Amino acid sequence: MELRTSPTTPIDDSQQHLLSIVIPCFNEEAVIGETIKRLKEFATHLVNLDVEFIFIDDGSRDQTTTLLRAYAAEDSRFRVVFFARNFGHQIAVTAGIDAAHGDAVVVIDADLQDPPEVMHEMIAKWREGYDVVYGTRTERPGESLFKLATARTFYRFLNKLSDVAIPLDTGDFRLMSRAVVDSLRAMPERDRFVRGMVSWVGFKQIKLGYKRAERFAGESKYPLRKMLKFAIDGILSFSTKPLQLSIGLGLLVASISLVGIVYALYLRIFTDIWVAGWTTLMIAVLFLGGVQLICVGILGEYIGRIYNEVKRRPLYVVQEYLGFPEKGPIYSRSPAEHQ
Ligand code: UDP
Ligand code: MG
Repeated sequence: MELRTSPTTPIDDSQQHLLSIVIPCFNEEAVIGETIKRLKEFATHLVNLDVEFIFIDDGSRDQTTTLLRAYAAEDSRFRVVFFARNFGHQIAVTAGIDAAHGDAVVVIDADLQDPPEVMHEMIAKWREGYDVVYGTRTERPGESLFKLATARTFYRFLNKLSDVAIPLDTGDFRLMSRAVVDSLRAMPERDRFVRGMVSWVGFKQIKLGYKRAERFAGESKYPLRKMLKFAIDGILSFSTKPLQLSIGLGLLVASISLVGIVYALYLRIFTDIWVAGWTTLMIAVLFLGGVQLICVGILGEYIGRIYNEVKRRPLYVVQEYLGFPEKGPIYSRSPAEHQ
């Protein structure tokens, strides 16, 4: 599936619009102050564009919660969604998108790895008429070689498997128009791979290269375990090819066994060393067992996901909405919406 890239009707920038900036935060006490400073500074340069800052406190266990509360008390543009526990980055991004009122919505990390200033270029593209402006990392200083290599391999592998073209080296730092945001809100799946979902939606998308900075302070909240889950979500949510893999593997093993069978028969009929077949037997049994377990595992992953979807639980539980106009966000995702 090709993404459409030609621009459409430009946005009328003599009109006042609203930009929502979504910032997922999990234990970010070390950076949050500086991030807010940079974001506020960024907002002073905007023309005909109001801003709302939507922070998602993803069950932080440090001072992040207290700090966000204090900042929100000072500035009426601040809104905070406090999760009842840690639901993970992709769900936090989803909650932010759900709660945003803006004509355009930007998702940005809390650790200043995505420089806020790049949003000016994103806004310019949006005003030209693009619906999605996604940040593509041209440089990633300060990341381990292991992370760079695995990320690179992962995105290429994912594109081989997936039917949707998911842009390479692209994270969740992106601007989305209201039309795209509304389409995302209509997607209720729970294993969320937001960047893939945005590609799937379509509209006019364009990439914007930027230099990814080092984390300003604190540690990555994506240990290997979470990265692995994230990669598996990406593959299984956007491809059923792993299921076909079982057929391929089965055929391969069957043809190998065929050779084995012919060999065993040959020994049995034409020689007298046929009792010595124990090793071959063991290898065949172990190998077949292994392949079968892999295939059952793949099936299990998909079935587990079906089970998860069928339960129809809400995607996240909000403990408190703070700083939203009137009763709360216009859009809140309730279980009833999934009916
Ligand atoms: N994050 C989150 N929930 C989590 C893990 C991370 O909201 O369970 C946020 C985190 O606060 C940051 C963003 O997601 O704003 C990206 O996380 P991080 O910088 O740790 O990931 P990395 O850049 O190392 O991939
Ligand atoms: Mg980071």
